[in-house]
Amino acid sequence: MPHRILLVEDEEKLARFVELELGYEGYEVTKAFDGREGLTLALSGGFDLVLLDIMLPGLSGMEILRRLRKSSSVPVIMLTARDSVTDKVSGLDTGADDYVTKPFEIEELLARIRAALRHKLTDGEGEAYECGALRVDVPRREVTVSGTAVGLTKREFDLLHYLLKNKGIVVTREQLLENVWDFDFDGGTNTVDVYIRFLRGKIDDAFGVKLINTVRGVGYVIKDE
Ligand code: CA
Repeated sequence: MPHRILLVEDEEKLARFVELELGYEGYEVTKAFDGREGLTLALSGGFDLVLLDIMLPGLSGMEILRRLRKSSSVPVIMLTARDSVTDKVSGLDTGADDYVTKPFEIEELLARIRAALRHKLTDGEGEAYECGALRVDVPRREVTVSGTAVGLTKREFDLLHYLLKNKGIVVTREQLLENVWDFDFDGGTNTVDVYIRFLRGKIDDAFGVKLINTVRGVGYVIKDE
């Protein structure tokens, strides 16, 4: 089965070019030229990855991402026209998995798509984890707390997955960087702390539980309350 990619991009020339290149690589591409159509398609599910432009008519890429993340953990790569720190920070907060700044080389985009899809292929089959009220179905990438769905980014999901594989065992920041991150971000181990905060916000804080624990000077551990 080819991977299905949703491309939300209003510049038709660029969209056609990307569609063609991804087609050569064996991906199946669906295009949307405006924000509302993009959101409807993204929410319909059935996509392995979403490429999302930020400046769109109808509904901005950020707004689409914000609404999508309420119920979906599908990997999202933002296409941003500016190499703007503000866009990157607010996009990360909103739940983007990665960024490509326009104009981009197609090889760079392909590398990021492969990286975003890689974990999906290597995830074990039939794996499910429970920790307190948290339940994670790995093949379906479904995360629930007390039965309520939680939308995580690809990276947040991978981080949670690694913590759960080591449930009750303290893992160091270095271990997490090595096992969860494909690209070594320039932020180093601080990146891990940022993503732990994102996860806590969506799980511990949102549901009033305490599962993800900091072990001062060592790292993090997930365990039953
Ligand atoms: Ca645009």
